[in-house]
Amino acid sequence: MATKSEKLFEQAQQVIPGGVNSPVRAFGQVGGTPVFMKSAQGAYLFDEDGNRYIDYINSWGPMILGHGHPEVVDAIREQATRAVSFGAPTELEVEMAKLVTSIVPGLEMVRFVNSGTEACMSAVRLARGYTNRTKIIKFEGHYHGHADSFLKKAGSGVATLGIKINAGIPSVVSEDTLVASFNDFDEIEKLINRYGNETAALIVEPVAGNMGCVPPKSGYLQHLRKLCDQYGIVLIFDEVMTGFRLALGGAQELFGVQADLMTFGKIIGGGLPVGAFGGKKEIMKRIAPLGDVYQAGTLSGNPLAMTAGLATLRHLKANPSIYKNIETKTQKLAEGINIVLKNKQIPFVINQLGSMISVHFCKNEVTDFKTASAGNNDTFKKFFHHLLKNGVYIPPSPFETWFIADALSEKDIEHTIQCVKDWK
Ligand SMILES: *Cc1c(COP(=O)(O)O)cnc(C)c1O
Repeated sequence: MATKSEKLFEQAQQVIPGGVNSPVRAFGQVGGTPVFMKSAQGAYLFDEDGNRYIDYINSWGPMILGHGHPEVVDAIREQATRAVSFGAPTELEVEMAKLVTSIVPGLEMVRFVNSGTEACMSAVRLARGYTNRTKIIKFEGHYHGHADSFLKKAGSGVATLGIKINAGIPSVVSEDTLVASFNDFDEIEKLINRYGNETAALIVEPVAGNMGCVPPKSGYLQHLRKLCDQYGIVLIFDEVMTGFRLALGGAQELFGVQADLMTFGKIIGGGLPVGAFGGKKEIMKRIAPLGDVYQAGTLSGNPLAMTAGLATLRHLKANPSIYKNIETKTQKLAEGINIVLKNKQIPFVINQLGSMISVHFCKNEVTDFKTASAGNNDTFKKFFHHLLKNGVYIPPSPFETWFIADALSEKDIEHTIQCVKDWK
């Protein structure tokens, strides 16, 4: 008999392309039927068929506290009875802006949008307006949302689908996007020495999370900072994934490197659709209505979304030990998986930083897109389905990072390691 997920997927495919509203959800890389979720609590997801899963996706990052955190739920419920949307300024936006600018190094001014894509797209427009230059530089396997300029050698779903994604993108747009490989000191230096004077912005995931988890080599972010300074290039840290996750102040706090602009998403909305971009006042003042770089949004700064973000960030700020705790849990998970996989005689690499972790079935160190792509997909597929069948929900692609939430218990980690151990 068909499961409820199978029936729903069948119906979904009739009316939604691929049956999903974001490509990776379709399980294209691993095959099988995507699981349709019904509810979630703490570290667990419950699907339409009543199965329980330990959640290592956490909505691709936002649910750092776990699902249904009472402070977040209560805040949303209260706000919903007051008002859902005005399209007018609110005190909530002021509170939220004050909070994030107090938390994030160098974030002097901020504007709220509705997604990470919007944040990155707007930050690049701003950098182009500010510098009066057109080219941008990004890294292979890094994902900055689905705006035209970023879909060149991008990570996440683009890498997962493994197809040459360029339909619908004017060549004049993609020609202005230059691509370098991450963690290669010489290549980026050569590229900037050649194109630096025409380059508006360099956008980077300070810790890449869209080709699995790939931390920067020691000194690499400092190297980027130096090169950008040399040529007056706006350095944009895409902290959509790393912001409020690697540390309360994100990767900038962790590595002590200051970007000019930063973009946010995921955790900043506490599970509701929020993105943000901001940074140096001098640059941010060029945004309309103050300046000549246009950016707008009907639902930007939406009260319900601001409320969920505020509750999440306030809880993180009031409980700084969470960062140490989720890092310790993630290390335990990494060590446990490492031990049991070693006994299986298959090549693998585990990358981990803070509460971000990924498992690659390849022989060599994973430091960039090329090495991340060298993994054995067939092995990953089997690994994924074994875990799924045993109630452990990891991302359905080796090009995605697993996220550990505060709600995850030692027992959940032990169960996960046991599942990996039982895998044949
Ligand atoms: C998820 C992500 C984005 C895009 O955010 P959306 O909210 O999905 O548009 C951008 N950059 C990074 C680093 C991301 O991980």
